[in-house]
Amino acid sequence: MIIDDDKSQKLITLAFNAGQEIVKIYNKKVTKKLKSDNSPVTNADLKANSIICKGLRKYFPKVPIVSEELDNSHIKNKKIFWLVDPLDGTKEFLKGNGEFTVNIALIINKRPIHGLIYMPAKNKFYYTKSKKSYFAKFDQKGKLKNIKVIKVKKRKKNILVFSRSHGLSKEKLLEAKKAVFKKFNANQIIRSGSSIKLCYIADGTANIYPRHGTTMEWDIAAGDAILRYAGGCIKTLDRKIMKYGKPSFKNTSFIAKS
Ligand SMILES: [Mg+2]
Repeated sequence: MIIDDDKSQKLITLAFNAGQEIVKIYNKKVTKKLKSDNSPVTNADLKANSIICKGLRKYFPKVPIVSEELDNSHIKNKKIFWLVDPLDGTKEFLKGNGEFTVNIALIINKRPIHGLIYMPAKNKFYYTKSKKSYFAKFDQKGKLKNIKVIKVKKRKKNILVFSRSHGLSKEKLLEAKKAVFKKFNANQIIRSGSSIKLCYIADGTANIYPRHGTTMEWDIAAGDAILRYAGGCIKTLDRKIMKYGKPSFKNTSFIAKS
């Protein structure tokens, strides 16, 4: 399947619409419950999910959807599918720091071949088109403006990006800093929530994002597509390129690099 200009525009509009609904709820009333795995889900996650899934089913009726907010257990044919995280960074969303994203990716033969990440609270939009990666903003009507091609940046001393809601506390991080800098040949650490970390590698803000432990494929697939077309990659700890459509859609530890 080819994502032509018309399809690309439809996906951009879907991400924008989902983001606008999330912001409406963000500014009004967030209701939260806990899922069976104890992670939070809000009315914004569910609303954004329904907008995106409805659109994808309408425009791409033959392509199955795997989403954080759907039961994905019936998906058997994994040759081609969408991977959706309608609101990545629900914890950041609940904290009110604006670092949450809408994520849509298309997987074909285990690779992310198309990706979109929208950060509605900061009006930042990253997406892929014709094998290139772009950063843009939206105007009020949802039209793209300030579009620019993004590329990874190589540095003599690397800049690391770490999760905000996971992993080491600030104190622990300071303690571990020396060892971490040595291990990754780095001299700076940026902390950020959600899939925006992968965008930071793709646009040259940082160079390395090491992620320890289990994540889900929908957390990283859109960011992976954007990173790949910008010249970077995500590798597992045994140095293999990240693949998608794994059992239960779970990732092992990985390192994203410029
Ligand atoms: Mg989510």
